[in-house]
Formats: sequence, C-alpha cells, structure tokens
Amino acid sequence: MPDLTPTSPDAQDGGRDRALTPETLAVVAGRPARGADAQLNTPVSLTSTYMGGGSLTDPAGTALGYARFGNPTWSALEEALGVLEGGRALTFASGMGAVAAALHLVPAGGTVLLPHGAYNGTHALSQLLLEQQRLAVGLVDLTDLDGVRAALADAAGPTLLWVESPTNPLLEVADIAALTALAHEAGALVAVDNTFATPLLQRPLAAGVDVVVHSVTKFLSGHSDVVLGAVVLPPAGTPGADERHAVVLRHRTLHGAIPGPLEAFLALRGLRTLPLRLRQSQASAAELARRLQHHPAVTRVRHPSLPDDPGHELARRQMDGFGAIVSIEVLGSRTAADAVVDAVRLWVPATSLGGVESLIERRRRHASEPHVVPEDLLRLSVGVEDVEDLWRDLSRALDTIR
Ligand SMILES: *Cc1c(COP(=O)(O)O)cnc(C)c1O
Repeated sequence: MPDLTPTSPDAQDGGRDRALTPETLAVVAGRPARGADAQLNTPVSLTSTYMGGGSLTDPAGTALGYARFGNPTWSALEEALGVLEGGRALTFASGMGAVAAALHLVPAGGTVLLPHGAYNGTHALSQLLLEQQRLAVGLVDLTDLDGVRAALADAAGPTLLWVESPTNPLLEVADIAALTALAHEAGALVAVDNTFATPLLQRPLAAGVDVVVHSVTKFLSGHSDVVLGAVVLPPAGTPGADERHAVVLRHRTLHGAIPGPLEAFLALRGLRTLPLRLRQSQASAAELARRLQHHPAVTRVRHPSLPDDPGHELARRQMDGFGAIVSIEVLGSRTAADAVVDAVRLWVPATSLGGVESLIERRRRHASEPHVVPEDLLRLSVGVEDVEDLWRDLSRALDTIR
C-alpha cells in the first residue's frame, strides 16, 4: 500500500513538496497497492479464519490467524481514517463500542469528566460504570475553563477529560487546545468525540489530544445504512500512545466489539464522498440557520456559523467549517415542536444524523437525553438535498404552529 501519511513522500503533491489535502486523502487512502490487474477497492473479506504461514497481521503486528483479531476490509478503512485524523485508527462494531473502549483507558478507581451535554449514550455508559463502582463521574461545562481546572484538581485517581465539540445537540463549541493543556497540566488524558466535526473540520490529535472517537455511523459513512465506530490514537512512537493502542486493541478483541466486514466496506465507500457531502450539507445548514433566525415561530437558532452564536469566534479559529447540524427552539414548547416534526414531508422524522437525507428530531423525546437540553429543541441534520426544497418544507411546517 502507498504510504499516505501526509508527510510521507508518496503523499507529496507532484514533487511540489505539499502534502495531499484531506479532500484528496479521502479518495486515495485505504486502497490496495497499484499494479497490473489490482482491484481498485479492498474487497469485503468474508472469512472467520486464515490459513497459517502468511503475512497478514493484526494492528499489533501479530500473525492474524482468526478474524476477531483483524480483517483486511477493516484495515483499509482504518488506514483511511488514520490518515485523515493523523493517527492510528481501530474500528469497532458501533460508536458506543468505540466510546466503551476509550473509557476503558481509565483504570478502575479513576474518574471521567464529561460535559453536561455529552451524547446520551456516553452519559448512560459512564453512569453504568459509576454504578458498578469502576469509575467516578464528574460533569463539567467545557466552555468554563476555570470550572474544568477545578474539576480536574478535585478528580480522584487517573482522570480522563471527555470533550465533544460541537456538542450534541446544543452545538456548544469547546476550546480543544486550551482544555488539552489544562488536562495535561493536571496529569489527565483527553478524549475528543469528533463525530460532529469529522476530521475534515477539526483534527484533535494535532492539538495534542490523546484519543479521538467516532460514531462512523454518522457523517463518515454518510448514507444511514451502517452502524460502526472508531478509536483513533496518535501515531506510533508518540509518548504513551503505543500502550494505549494496545489497551484499546485488546479491549476490542476480548470484548468482541468488532465491525462487520460489509459495514467496513460501506463505510469506506461512504468516506470517499465525505468532503463533497459535507461541503453541501454545511453550506445548506448555514443558509437554513440564517433564515430560521427570522422565522416568527423560532425562538432560538443554534449553529456556530451565526455571528452572534456563543461558539462562533472559537469555531472560526478551531474548525475548517461550521458543520451540518442546526438546533432550533420553537414558540409554544414541546407540543409545538412535536407538531413541526409531524408537519414536515421532505425532512425525515428520525433520530441519527450525518446522512445524505435531512433528519429532524425533538431530542427530549428520549428519556435518556440530558435535561440541559430544552424540551422544545429540534435537532436538524442537514443532508444534501436542494436547500430551497429543504427550506420550503421546513418553513411551511413551522408556519403551522405560528
Ligand atoms: C451516534 C453518536 C454516538 C454513538 O454512536 P453509535 O454508532 O450510534 O453507537 C457517539 N457520539 C456521538 C456524538 C454520536 O452522535
């Protein structure tokens, strides 16, 4: 396989000494080696076992032998994700499988500090680990650096600071570099759930973050046909990273949270068009956010593209785009919000996000949703449909509650 780490000679741009852009890497990374009759795509490897004596190894370099330890289709996806994030990726059966493996980096008796608005599955899992007395759990406001510093100082045992930015679904933006500096000063590790931004919009490992997790289910796959996750660790040789890579790999192998080969194939196919999909979706998201601010049924719009959004300045510095998720609050609370979801025809009333089709959901309909999320908040995942069609359908649905 060509070496496509952005600094490798193969990744240089026609001898002009410039690394390939993420847009190009999304297309070229994770392919079989060039050669006569070579397949362009790594095929779906459907096997549970391998005959001995070959050269295939697991990500730790051990002879493969059995398919719970590794699979060439996973490796192709892991190579592409690793190149895009600037690290080493391990794929999992789901985003939650990846979250669980990352939380496992905290030894028993340690602490995880979570943002109050973190993904509800991450909240629920840390709550479970707390009930099992494996970890202590603290809640922090990531936009309050003094508060995070104090929580880090108070935390018992080895500590992991969990960062989401922008958060789901409040779209708060956290200062990843500042939080990483605070955590490292306190001897804590930092994890970033990069699902919302994707490596195209921000690369936390470059800011010194210790571990990145993804729900590959969302933007990376992009077609609402796959459930998959990934953990990405810094490049081999980074202090501490090799040990953590071994811990995460062992967790995957022994808990059996392994991806299906077909899912890995579909995710890599989806990843090829991530730059195009994201460009379209986030341009539409920004346009819809701008228009929604003036709709009489809307009381608040959350999207970092808006100049008066609390996260706007930070997102401009930290991200290469504002993302494709918009949250709105509507006049008349929960019933009105439900009525909007009932009234849309093009938008799909469904959970999840990051696919080519636009989805709308009142988040508090889930009992597990953190209560900092307003009852009337609707989360919009903007897909790649024509923005005028999306606007007509949404504004008409909002007109029904005025
Ligand atoms: C969906 C999601 C997850 C969980 O991923 P699954 O693939 O559903 O297991 C984790 N974090 C965020 C931010 C998500 O949106």
